[in-house]
Amino acid sequence: MPPSGLRRKSPRPFLHAAISHNLETADVRRFICNICGFGNTASNFGEGREGAVCGRCHSSQRLRSVISILSRSLFQCDIPLCHFPRLQSIRALGISDSPVIASRLEEHFRYTNTFYHQQPQLDILAPPPDELGRYDFVICSDVLEHVAGPIEEAFRSLHSLLKPGGFLILTVPFGIQSTTLEHFAGIQALTVSTVDGHPIAIGKSVDGRYEVFDDLVFHLGEGATLEHRIFSENDLRQLLLESGFSNVVIDNTSNADFGIEYGSECSLPIFASNGPPLLPSASLSELVTDYAEQKRKMLASRQSLWVRLGRTLGFGPRL
Ligand SMILES: [Zn+2]
Repeated sequence: MPPSGLRRKSPRPFLHAAISHNLETADVRRFICNICGFGNTASNFGEGREGAVCGRCHSSQRLRSVISILSRSLFQCDIPLCHFPRLQSIRALGISDSPVIASRLEEHFRYTNTFYHQQPQLDILAPPPDELGRYDFVICSDVLEHVAGPIEEAFRSLHSLLKPGGFLILTVPFGIQSTTLEHFAGIQALTVSTVDGHPIAIGKSVDGRYEVFDDLVFHLGEGATLEHRIFSENDLRQLLLESGFSNVVIDNTSNADFGIEYGSECSLPIFASNGPPLLPSASLSELVTDYAEQKRKMLASRQSLWVRLGRTLGFGPRL
């Protein structure tokens, strides 16, 4: 039983209509996954940014949009992650990134995925001082809506982790309402518990009163993914600018070839930087080296006895 005298309060005054997307009637579309390169046929684009899941790597539209922005930011073109060059001079950080992209990013960059509850551990409200200013890019996808505490601190931390010229790729559910909807405003300490199989949260306000919240929203199951807020686009822009980013872009660049088709102006991916992102000169050198190596392999293949025999007989790859 909850302590007597507690006030019941619902944190969810409206449903997620504002962040549900693309209610088109289902039609089958083909696309190439820009993470694993798999050719897909999908009909569930109407399920929004978590829909149109790749049949091989299980990437959603949201994850593919993150990689699309990353590709365009680094290379000024939209290429699949599986075709990225290896650029070990680029240092990157994930904030609880999905393993769908984390395992592949590790293959191409000096990338570390971090977590709040496990190693490698990083609290986005208090990153270690020796981590600041170290990263060329940071990915933070669908995390900040779950962060308890002063959210301004999390935005400042994201900015402080980046090198000058570094960039942030951010996704959060957001709507076009005028201000962010904080579910637990004024609460200092929040504990999630279960009563009769129903999750509740008990919080202590700044003036010492207890409040009970019984209409909690969890993302991808219950546990550590309690939703604390629904951002507004206006507030997101303001938070990013106030934390030090000078260039904030709400990215609505669809790419049907990669199964990225936005049906809403809500919850779009965001790019934030201190200016146009620049590849470090060492990375450009690696890029050229990688290209040269691929060209060398291509030329070597052309000289292959089996390839030449295949060409003579009218089959095999055209190199
Ligand atoms: Zn895939």
